[in-house]
Amino acid sequence: MNYYERTVGCGQVHGDLVGKTISLSGWVNKRRDHGTIIFVDLRDRTGLMQLVFSPDYSATAHELADQLRSEYVISVKGTVVHRAAGTINLEIPTGKYELQVHEVVLLNKAKALPFQLDEAAHVDEEIRLKYRYLDLRTPEMQHHLAMRHKIIYAMRQYFNEQNFYEIETPILTKNTAEGAREFLVPSRQYHGSFYALPQSPQIYKQLLMAGGLERYMQIARCFRDEDLRADRQPEFTQLDVEMSFISEADIQSCIEGLLAHIFGTIMNHQISLPLPRMTYDKAMSTYGSDKPDLRFDLPITELTSLFQGTSLAFLKAVLDKGGRIGALHVAKHAFTRSELEGWVSKALTNGAKGLVWIRFKENGEFEAPIAKFLPADFFKQVKALIPSLEEGDTLFLIAGKYQDAWTQLGRLRVQLGEALGLIDHKEVNLLWVTDFPLLEYDDARGQWSSVHHPFTSPQEGWEKLQPGEMKARAYDIVFNGIELGGGSIRIHNPEVQRKVFDYLGLDKDDMESHFSFLLEAQELGFPPHGGIALGIDRFVMLLAHCKSIRDVIAFPKTQSGYDPLMQAPTPVASKKLEEYGLRVVKKEAGS
Ligand code: ASP
Repeated sequence: MNYYERTVGCGQVHGDLVGKTISLSGWVNKRRDHGTIIFVDLRDRTGLMQLVFSPDYSATAHELADQLRSEYVISVKGTVVHRAAGTINLEIPTGKYELQVHEVVLLNKAKALPFQLDEAAHVDEEIRLKYRYLDLRTPEMQHHLAMRHKIIYAMRQYFNEQNFYEIETPILTKNTAEGAREFLVPSRQYHGSFYALPQSPQIYKQLLMAGGLERYMQIARCFRDEDLRADRQPEFTQLDVEMSFISEADIQSCIEGLLAHIFGTIMNHQISLPLPRMTYDKAMSTYGSDKPDLRFDLPITELTSLFQGTSLAFLKAVLDKGGRIGALHVAKHAFTRSELEGWVSKALTNGAKGLVWIRFKENGEFEAPIAKFLPADFFKQVKALIPSLEEGDTLFLIAGKYQDAWTQLGRLRVQLGEALGLIDHKEVNLLWVTDFPLLEYDDARGQWSSVHHPFTSPQEGWEKLQPGEMKARAYDIVFNGIELGGGSIRIHNPEVQRKVFDYLGLDKDDMESHFSFLLEAQELGFPPHGGIALGIDRFVMLLAHCKSIRDVIAFPKTQSGYDPLMQAPTPVASKKLEEYGLRVVKKEAGS
């Protein structure tokens, strides 16, 4: 079978080609039969071009055009002409032209499709993923993957200019103890032993610093075998970076440069540098989140002091246990009673034990389910803490353990921001959150665990503090209320590393069996170093305005970790398993 050498892409035909003979190849997007004249919209990666078949131009081509169906693959040769005045379509870049076809070659046929491409957005996602190669033909998916390419390309370009090396680290590796459950790969050579797939190249990139590479980056595939909540994938891609002889500020300004480059070149948006910084403590106390969305204000104000000595049993119980009361102040919004009730149920769904609303009216009067327990001058008392409080404003109060109550207020704040239209969706709001705690207490395990990971350096003076008070040299970059990435300055001193492992409950044997190589490397001239990782799937999703990271990954798994296209994972024959020294034990019902 023959085809004509492509001279131009379908979407690239322009005025200078009028009167010229060109060749196009692509898919039949649509065919409209007007009897003696047949129109075909031909599609390739660059866009659409209208083809016209008529016996006047070629009887054979016209005959073949009669048999064309959606998604047939063809190659054509013809003359570019202007479209007649009434038939111009300004919605596509080639809408002023059409191709009078003289010759056509049918390269391949297509059966009736399982779904029409222009209806893909409404098709069940499992079907779209089963026929992902069809879904990928839609202009939306083509755009998303083009965007992904451009972002990754811009990253490589930037880091190359900054003298970084891109270095691949192993996929078959050992658990890096970063917290998540890892995928295991059985070894055929060493029965009973397993490789782990990396949750991130964390230890390898640190060892690259020990190896004197100084500036490393990688577009790294990472794997986490976690129960898939919300928008997670078992494998994902991150921009991974590590540098030697640097401080937090060096890494932050390097990433700021990268973001300015990406936003500038891809979104045509100038961001002003340096980006704002906010400590973790401030982010939590003011916005109830370690990734505050600062496209709108709506801060949390603590009102605990106004309720000391309250006779309200539930608030008193909270305060007696050391709990606190925080409030969100919504200015000038006339909530209806049922809207207020709606916010109460929303708070309950968010995990709060309750939400109290207080609506201020004229002359300092107010309305609230707990009104009779509040002092007559309550408006005045609140105004002393929230000077912008006015008549007509509403307060939403949550009481509880600080971390819980403030987190719930933080969630409510974002939901209120969305519902009240306080967010400018065109805004790009970036900030660094810094000074994270080093450790957090894991009630379930009865144990301290790392907030970032065990290799993160504590801030100076940590030896004198209680574990819960120690701060980490860690930072996150936040984009419109979403964590884009995070990193830290690492520990390079084996004594510090041992002490941190100790806090995490690792005894000497655990340290030896899991990390002897790291502790030894730290005794053999490890330079001070630090780094960061940015989630590429999420970044592309946000820049391409998609709802899910699955929309920016060529072949994602479903939300239950299944690949409907290849039908993975699949059972393996017991003969094959024997080679690995494995036998499958049937899961007992209910386990
Ligand atoms: N390894 C960390 C992660 O994957 C990032 C870092 O500390 O560089 O989240």
